[in-house]
Amino acid sequence: MDSQPNSPHVLIFPFPVQGHVSCMLKLAELLCISGVHVTFLNSDIIHRRLLRYNDVMSRFSRYSGFRFETISDGLPPDHPRSGNRVVDIFDSIKMVTKPMFRQMLLPGGCLNHMNNRPLVSSIIADGIMCFTIDVANELGIPIYLFRTVSASCFWAFYCIPKLIESGDLPIKEDDEMDRLLHGVTGMEKYLRLRDLPSFCRTSDLSDRAFQVVTSETQETYRANGLILNTFEDLEESALTQIRKHVPNLYAIGPLHGHLNSRLEAQMTSPPRSSNSLWEEDRTCMTWLDEQTPKSVIYVSFGSMTMLSRDELIEFWYGLVNSKKNFLWVVRPNSVAGDGQTIPAQLLEGTVERGYIVRWAPQEEVLAHPAVGGFLTHSGWNSTLESIVAAVPMICWPYYADQQVNSRLVGEVWKLGFDMKDICDRVVVEKVVKDLMDTKRDELARPVDRMMKLARRSVAVDGSSFNNLNRLIEDIKQINRSCNKTVTTHPCFV
Ligand code: UDP
Repeated sequence: MDSQPNSPHVLIFPFPVQGHVSCMLKLAELLCISGVHVTFLNSDIIHRRLLRYNDVMSRFSRYSGFRFETISDGLPPDHPRSGNRVVDIFDSIKMVTKPMFRQMLLPGGCLNHMNNRPLVSSIIADGIMCFTIDVANELGIPIYLFRTVSASCFWAFYCIPKLIESGDLPIKEDDEMDRLLHGVTGMEKYLRLRDLPSFCRTSDLSDRAFQVVTSETQETYRANGLILNTFEDLEESALTQIRKHVPNLYAIGPLHGHLNSRLEAQMTSPPRSSNSLWEEDRTCMTWLDEQTPKSVIYVSFGSMTMLSRDELIEFWYGLVNSKKNFLWVVRPNSVAGDGQTIPAQLLEGTVERGYIVRWAPQEEVLAHPAVGGFLTHSGWNSTLESIVAAVPMICWPYYADQQVNSRLVGEVWKLGFDMKDICDRVVVEKVVKDLMDTKRDELARPVDRMMKLARRSVAVDGSSFNNLNRLIEDIKQINRSCNKTVTTHPCFV
């Protein structure tokens, strides 16, 4: 649908890393389909990479109301922006980018002075950048927060002050990591100390990453609403708990499935909507075409994980010794340190039944009939993509929300196995064999059930479908009241 001059204009501002940009772009496209003007504010560096490796420009050219704008993330070009350095991006954006963001939104600023475009009528900002609420409040623009983590992880973050009060945090040296926690309501039966978000694994409560996620989460209530990339049937319990504190909650995921479903309703063969920041190596699709159904384990640890050389070797031995075919994404610069040369046995095993790429078209890979399992770091996008594709998972969480997600996959949803905190070739071999052979039938039923629930949630009248419609209606309503009070809207004075 084309946006009209009086349609609402939403500014979307993601935290500049792959997992956040990718799913917020899907939300942007969903809003465009509904006739909303969208400006997507990218960091310069992310924008350059997005354009370099994607056809986003031609994809979005279908929407007359869509624009990209860019802003600096304040870091030098050679900063790694991954692994444990991600907190630097947060600090820099808050310090350097915030004043630029404010300036852009002021009357005459580039976000509010565009030909044939209405003024920004609401903002959807990444929920770990709560400084955007200050700017929005100052300028009188309604703001919604979008959190890219699971609802369960958000809820665990929310309960951190309670865990400090009860003495569960900070973790002590002699703590029993398998001890169940009672402070995260609704998760008492399965959430162990080990399963808390990685940032909680500190003995120092003034640790920067710990501080950031705790304080940003507590500020959520200040926004007009919270948007989550999840669906009611998947995380009903956590959503119920969050609603007690943040009543205006929109669970609209899985966003990639939601977008595909709405595009399919409009056109017979919708374009692929990849938002990769690395060049996708499509030769792996040809390799997959040559494999038998459900014979391949796909291995990827997402866009941020750093492996040590030893971890790489342990995974490699485990995969080769399992004698299963594997497709493995090893991102450039994602293995730390030099070390032993790669043993000949691993190279031979890889030639025989493996395929290694630097970056894959993951959604397509997971949907390929040859893929029968996913060894993942349990990033939230990857988890949702695996659920929609009905692929069982082996979880090896790296950081942030992944410790929580992997526990849910293994213990609650029964969609795979949680290999948390273990990186050993014998275990890898066993768990790959379990997933692909021994326990395949046991996993098939819950995997199939969750895939159906996910797809139902984004189909017409499903929970996520209705929640997205409610969000769009609310955005339009805000826009109408804004237009009525045009003389007092701060953007006009
Ligand atoms: N991804 C991809 N190709 C790859 C590896 C990952 O397209 O080779 C995509 C994946 O489909 C997902 C995103 O990168 O959408 C990773 O997000 P996630 O939340 O799973 O993890 P993060 O990278 O944020 O740790």
